Amino acid sequence: MELVKTEITDCAEGRKRLTGFVKYNDGFVDEYWYEYPSKFEVTETGNIWLAALLPMAATINEDLIINLPVDQRLLDGTRDILRFWKSWEKGTSVINIKAEKIADPAINLAGESASFFSSGVDAFYTAYNKPRAKYKILIHGFDLSIKKEAEFEKHLKRISCVVDKLGDELVFVKTNIRHTRWQQTRWQAISHGAALASIALLFENHFSEVFIPSSMGDFKDLYCWGSHPLTDPLFSTSRTSIITDGDGLSRLDKIKFLTDYDYALNHLHVCIRGKDGTGQDEINCSHCEKCYRTMMALELSGCLNKCKLFDLKKFNYEEIPYIFVTDAFTAPEYHEMAEEALRQNNSELASAIYKAIKRSKLIIRLEFLKKVPILWNIPHKMLDNSIY
Ligand SMILES: [Zn+2]
Repeated sequence: MELVKTEITDCAEGRKRLTGFVKYNDGFVDEYWYEYPSKFEVTETGNIWLAALLPMAATINEDLIINLPVDQRLLDGTRDILRFWKSWEKGTSVINIKAEKIADPAINLAGESASFFSSGVDAFYTAYNKPRAKYKILIHGFDLSIKKEAEFEKHLKRISCVVDKLGDELVFVKTNIRHTRWQQTRWQAISHGAALASIALLFENHFSEVFIPSSMGDFKDLYCWGSHPLTDPLFSTSRTSIITDGDGLSRLDKIKFLTDYDYALNHLHVCIRGKDGTGQDEINCSHCEKCYRTMMALELSGCLNKCKLFDLKKFNYEEIPYIFVTDAFTAPEYHEMAEEALRQNNSELASAIYKAIKRSKLIIRLEFLKKVPILWNIPHKMLDNSIY
């Protein structure tokens, strides 16, 4: 696959669009675009495209040709990233990368700092932990689909007020990357960190460091995840360092940190399910696994009642045993919360969480047994009722 050409056009008042025309080996041409505030002079290098297209090329096993100069540090880093993905056996290949030439190494004279911001737990933690990141990058087109214009407008309005209150500047970026062939990459396990890095590098003329709020917990529980403390920094260039922030802290740790910040609690938005189950919108559904996991941590931190974007009527301990706890991703968080509940003598909550863990393990075993033909009719009702 090959980045054939790029162009910048005006797309709305005060907004520009950078489009990359990407040709695959079968001849099909995709248009990947990013819209951004026109006050920014976006990068003239191929770095953004190398970051963006890397997971796609690795997924479809096509060598990647970038017809623009790329940074040597990034080029070296992406080769390490390819080997990292390959070692986890997620269906990617170690492909060859060919760039037009190596870009002249450059120091970023602007020297500004930015962080990605969504108003979730990780984002608010980084906002308060890294106050020097005065630019907050909000993305439309990742968790919240670009087809959901009305929902995003409400989301944007609320987050604009939050960023104002923080005394920072909002940088709103919209992209269609998940509506191109790129959508076949594994978003969670492989590609969302690369997509974040591509947006960070869009602004490499302005930001010398861009923080990605870490979504992983304890170092000993690290797994293959698109945004990862090992791989995210490898997307850095000689102009812009990409840095994960909050590594080694659990969700409960971060929420305890946020108990000092009522404004953050008031505006906490974590749900990626949305009100109708079709994906993120402007509300917390207050009934999905992520909403419940967050509400439990808020309850254990003594601040759930300060979180106005959750519907507390939907939170009750009777529902907790029906939560499906996936093994690698969230199990450590549930164990930590159950232990914290025991420390607080909240045996009812601890018991509910342990039931969820136990039931989930049973479901995982049953799902495995379903693959064995003779046991195909194991009662499916045992698998019902999980919180969606
Ligand atoms: Zn939810």
